[in-house]
Amino acid sequence: MNLHEYQSKGLFGQFNIPVPKGKVATSDQEVYDIARELGGAVVVKAQVLTGGRGKAGGVKVAKTPDDARAVADKILGMQIKDLVVHKVLVDPAADIKKEIYLGIVNDRVARKPLIMASAEGGMDIEEVNRVSPEKIIREHIDPFLGLRDYQARNLASGTQLPREHWKQFTEIAQNLFKCFQRYDATLAEINPLAIVSTSGGVSLMALDGKISIDDSALFKMPEIAEMRDLQAEPAEETRAREAGLTYIKLDGDIGCMVNGAGLAMTTMDITKDIAAKLGFEGSGPANFLDIGGGARADKVAAAMRIILSEPKVKAILFNIFGGITRCDEVARGILQALGEVQTSVPMVVRLAGTNAKEGLEIIDNAKVPSIMSAATLTEAAEKAVRAARGQ
Ligand code: GDP
Ligand code: MN
Repeated sequence: MNLHEYQSKGLFGQFNIPVPKGKVATSDQEVYDIARELGGAVVVKAQVLTGGRGKAGGVKVAKTPDDARAVADKILGMQIKDLVVHKVLVDPAADIKKEIYLGIVNDRVARKPLIMASAEGGMDIEEVNRVSPEKIIREHIDPFLGLRDYQARNLASGTQLPREHWKQFTEIAQNLFKCFQRYDATLAEINPLAIVSTSGGVSLMALDGKISIDDSALFKMPEIAEMRDLQAEPAEETRAREAGLTYIKLDGDIGCMVNGAGLAMTTMDITKDIAAKLGFEGSGPANFLDIGGGARADKVAAAMRIILSEPKVKAILFNIFGGITRCDEVARGILQALGEVQTSVPMVVRLAGTNAKEGLEIIDNAKVPSIMSAATLTEAAEKAVRAARGQ
């Protein structure tokens, strides 16, 4: 589960990481009131669960309460990467001298948390990693020892942070790790961690925050689970979670329904690869969808409704490896969903493993003109990619 910036900064504050004293608003009048109360210039920030808000026009500085109202009127209701802005954070504007990046993720290969810092703050860190990975300073954290002082100093010196900020930087980095650990985060990120000038002097402050929490840990933290903002996530993802499916929306045209995360990844890769080989620009998987092990017909039907609710989907590829999941159950689910949802979207079904033969018989006997079967994944992916382009 991803937390909003204001929620993440709220948790940072509890761990003594300095954050601006901002407030959340849902209307331009509220923004005006908050700006008046804060006094001085403010920054109005779209609260959507995606990065790059600044570039998209979702972060704007306003000098007066009237300006803040006008800016909020533009930001509230705007769309950033398909997500509608329902809330804004109003922070006192900071006087920024320098921006750095600081973030913690789990490094699965090293089996340890990894903390990263970069002098290229405020920017898209994935881009920094692609273009100049050497500009990211990395330290693995021993989960039992926590982040050691010398490691924090390595990060500070590696990012050319002026020495006067090293002590505060060390505290912030160590507290960020405590926060990461306490809430079973998979990501805790401050971008930018800024050197700001205030009446009290020059110091570090977290101007942006992003925390992702491991969904499997939410049961033990009801106060965090409660922070889930249903309005802010794609409706399909909410419905999928309620149906017990793992679903992530992507931007291709081929709906994929697969059982097992590894098989789903493979299916997506092959689909993308074949689309590229055939020269079909923009074609590829429209989603990641894992229906899980042992999925029954009603779950398959729920998954199909979710896939079909996306108008970009021009074909559906079913790739099912029957183990505990029985292919005949899946076949029945497909037909059940077809009975409920009217669609002419072509479908390619590849079934292997438990009851595959029975499953294919069920599909063949139903004689639905829009369904094709395939014997291998490569064949299935090629059929799906072509079908999406009307071939
Ligand atoms: P993101 O684009 O979604 O990562 O949103 P951020 O919160 O990181 O804001 C993007 C950029 O806006 C930052 O890198 C800063 O350069 C700028 N920004 C954010 N807050 C302030 C502020 O209080 N004052 C000023 N002057 N700029 C800010
Ligand atoms: Mn940012």
